Amino acid sequence: MSAASFDTLPEAVRALARADFGQVAARFREAGFTVTLPDRGILSVKAAAPDPARASVLLSVGVHGDETGPIEMVAHALDALSHSPRELAVDLMLCVGSIDAIAVGKRFIDADLNRMFRLQRGDLAATFEAGRADAIIAATRDFFDGSGPRRWHLDLHTAIRASRYPKFAIVPQLIAQQARDALIAWLGLAGIEAVIMNPASAGTYSYWTAEQHGAAASTVELGRIGTLGRNDLSQFTQAAAAIDALLRGETRGEGTPPLVFDTAQSITKLSDAFRMGFGRETENFTPLKKGEVIATDGDTVYTVKHDEEFVVFPNPDVRVGLRAGIMVVRK
Ligand SMILES: [Zn+2]
Repeated sequence: MSAASFDTLPEAVRALARADFGQVAARFREAGFTVTLPDRGILSVKAAAPDPARASVLLSVGVHGDETGPIEMVAHALDALSHSPRELAVDLMLCVGSIDAIAVGKRFIDADLNRMFRLQRGDLAATFEAGRADAIIAATRDFFDGSGPRRWHLDLHTAIRASRYPKFAIVPQLIAQQARDALIAWLGLAGIEAVIMNPASAGTYSYWTAEQHGAAASTVELGRIGTLGRNDLSQFTQAAAAIDALLRGETRGEGTPPLVFDTAQSITKLSDAFRMGFGRETENFTPLKKGEVIATDGDTVYTVKHDEEFVVFPNPDVRVGLRAGIMVVRK
């Protein structure tokens, strides 16, 4: 996005997209919170006196620089809350992930930031995003260190492709039962229709916080991708209300419980010979029947093993060694 088009954005959105927390940070600081900016695009607002009974909520947006809807949504929510700052009932960290990619209207600079949250990065280690992930990892550790047991991380995204369930979330299976149930109930409040239980890390930010910090964490897909300042914010109404309530310490309410899916198999791209068995426009949650070919990769043939499996995030263009799709089944 050019500097000129940034100028037409509402002030709160422009500020957040540029990693400028100036006014919002000042309002919370004046209200007596401990406010820090641990790195570019990262804001931490904590109670002045540490309180383990207080929940800790990490919100991340713009991990993919072209997914701008959640940036707008959170900018408006935080700006509104900062005018009555004492209503913030949780310790909050807000992370705008790919600041540099957002500035140029791209998804990433070198490589997908949401594959960098792993101990071994292989040939990803030399990419621009590896450095950014290190900064985010350090700030996240500092945020959760010493915080109480009620830890949340909502990593907010929008999808490129169409989906039979436009609003869905990925939840790491290793989250403790009680926290996981609370997370899934909150996702229902936020209008999320489907939840996929994920048994293994693909290097995502939300899996990292669940695994390393015991957070009730989720990658949340809120709708379709759009241009900063021109997003259809009506698709985020329910999610915005649920986030606002979470920040004010109100997590109870009536939501429709999401459908829950288990991961049947994770499809890994093993070589450049990788080919998907279906077209690139295939919607998320498209059903495939037992025996159908999901992908071929040299001598490896991935086929559907259950009577019916649904394909999510099919992407033959990922780097070799990374996840090229997930097959899920109804729980
Ligand atoms: Zn994304």
